[in-house]
Amino acid sequence: MKAIVLYSGGLDSNLALRIILDQGIEALALTFITPFTSPKVAGSPLPGVEYKSITFGQEYIDLVKSPSHGWGRNMNPCIDCRIYTLRKAKGLMDEVRASFLVTGEVLGQRPMSQRRDTLRLIEKETGLEGLILRPLSAKLLPPTIPEKEEWVRRDVLLDLRGRSRKPQMELASQWGIAGYPNPAGGCKLTDPGFSHRLRETLNFGEDSLGDMELLKLGRHFRLPSGAKAIVGRNEEENGKLSSLASSDDYLLEVVGFPSPLTLLRKAKGKKDLLDAASLCARYSDGEGVVEVRTWREGKEIDLPKVSPLEEDKILEYRLG
Ligand code: SF4
Repeated sequence: MKAIVLYSGGLDSNLALRIILDQGIEALALTFITPFTSPKVAGSPLPGVEYKSITFGQEYIDLVKSPSHGWGRNMNPCIDCRIYTLRKAKGLMDEVRASFLVTGEVLGQRPMSQRRDTLRLIEKETGLEGLILRPLSAKLLPPTIPEKEEWVRRDVLLDLRGRSRKPQMELASQWGIAGYPNPAGGCKLTDPGFSHRLRETLNFGEDSLGDMELLKLGRHFRLPSGAKAIVGRNEEENGKLSSLASSDDYLLEVVGFPSPLTLLRKAKGKKDLLDAASLCARYSDGEGVVEVRTWREGKEIDLPKVSPLEEDKILEYRLG
């Protein structure tokens, strides 16, 4: 007997996986990577456990833009996201010869997607009624097909509910499970600041995978023309900005002083270039009027020297 375990690498999915393995069920640990989650796992959780990851792309961004079940408190479309994820897992069942799915969901842990009624709705919409086993809360839920068919023993499943992670941490310590990441690291769509940036950028029609990558980096500014400037906060971000620049983007950095890299997208004219240069100067170590090197596709652009952008403009243009 084999199951696909939706495996984020976090505490709950590690416990769910352990419960299933302890019942002698073969498991495929399946990780989903969205444009808004940083992978917590880098391979198989345990020696001998089969592992697979699936990366979501533009289709997932389109789902985030207009989820049929709406967003949570921020830009998190948790119900649609769970439906999408479970459909992907369902699509793998035949190929890997899995008879059911397992998740680390805990009843009542998340306000939107882990309520009793939404769990039912998600099962119905995915056509997976009775085929999703949630070992951490199974005793509080109707018996699933794996329990009814006695592929798994219901009596050793758990009855956890609510937001406290204390019982899970106690179990992890009893079972010698360590090294799971902190849950706070999760999905950027639940973060208010990131959600504000995302909403704003979608309103400007910026919805490509590259746009989403840029949203995770640097300080963001919307210039009056609609152009966007992104200022790197450290060497790593400067490197990523450089690699994400498209052929239409300008890159800028102050000459002669430590300086962030600034990426300017959708520039309409010289005023945007000068604003971006002043922004770059503001976050550099340069003082007074400075020279800002500006280029696009390796071709240098001549700009006059600039002063750092004034604080009131910074506040006006800054996003999130
Ligand atoms: S928190 Fe993010 S990854 Fe998790 S269900 Fe919600 S939208 Fe999906």
